[in-house]
Amino acid sequence: MGEFELIRHYFAAASCAQAGAGVALGIGDDCALLELPVGEQLAVSTDTLVAGVHFPDSSDPFLLAQRALGVSVSDLAAMGATPIGFTLALTLPHAEPAWLQGFARGLDQMAQHCALRLIGGDTSRGPLALTLTVFGRVPNGLALTRTGARIGDLLCVGGELGDGAGALPLVLGQRQAAAAIAEPLLARYWSPRPQLDLGVALRGKATAALDISDGLLADCGHIAAASGVALLIEQARLPLSQALLALLGISGARDCALSGGDDYLLAFTLPAEQLAGLQAQAWPIHVIGRVEAGSGVRLLDQHGQCITPQVRGYQHFGSDGD
Ligand code: ADP
Ligand code: MG
Repeated sequence: MGEFELIRHYFAAASCAQAGAGVALGIGDDCALLELPVGEQLAVSTDTLVAGVHFPDSSDPFLLAQRALGVSVSDLAAMGATPIGFTLALTLPHAEPAWLQGFARGLDQMAQHCALRLIGGDTSRGPLALTLTVFGRVPNGLALTRTGARIGDLLCVGGELGDGAGALPLVLGQRQAAAAIAEPLLARYWSPRPQLDLGVALRGKATAALDISDGLLADCGHIAAASGVALLIEQARLPLSQALLALLGISGARDCALSGGDDYLLAFTLPAEQLAGLQAQAWPIHVIGRVEAGSGVRLLDQHGQCITPQVRGYQHFGSDGD
């Protein structure tokens, strides 16, 4: 199967590649054309995933595609953006129909779930890698950035933390668990659900936001630095799932929540007066701390003592030589 037939069969023919709102021209020309309502800005984010670095070579293609797109779309959620479309740059060692079929189905499923269209891409031969670029729209001035946290704001997260990191040993086959524990954790790893609706609900309310990809402590550090404030996290308030607690116990579950990464939930700062209104609308908002004067992130135990660990989120080209 040649490059063009492959693109046509697996990608241009996918449901998610058909015409849709905001896409004036999709796959097939030199560029896609997007339409943006007057008064809105284009939000753009790109992510590359490399086999053997970001996922095992043997990953199920359906799950891999779902996860890759979910992770990318999570950046739109973190900006309070509404999805429009995405491009896919795919590098493949060979065109294997069963693999491509599964991959295209996984992509389609997550794209439909997030209401975004596949608008173009690139296909080449080489070691397995994929780059996804997502495009969204957000009203002028309402994007949720990392820079606006104010002293006195509450620090909040959008759900139970640590499940993705807790699932990793199960994904890598280093550990087994009963289905009742493994299934919910693996679902959180392979099928992250970008908090798009929550992001939109936080427009004009949250003062800073991001999605947690590298671990709560590391990512809160980004908000603290960008906003010029200190973030305090109360360890006892970390929301943890029953499955994660059953797998790892309280101490291991907390480690995953604080430093594990792969959550793809929103972390945000919120003026206290906004909390009741959002909670009345049943948004999954957990208050885990607050914004104070100073710098960096501090973790407090139940007595208010600082117990910030030395662990950091994952970094490529980190100082330990990886
Ligand atoms: P060009 O040479 O002009 O860059 P290509 O031949 O690479 O165009 O691609 C032809 C069309 O197919 C373009 O519209 C491109 O966006 C689209 N395309 C290529 N690869 C993919 C892919 N993996 N997924 C979706 N669209 C793709
Ligand atoms: Mg090209």
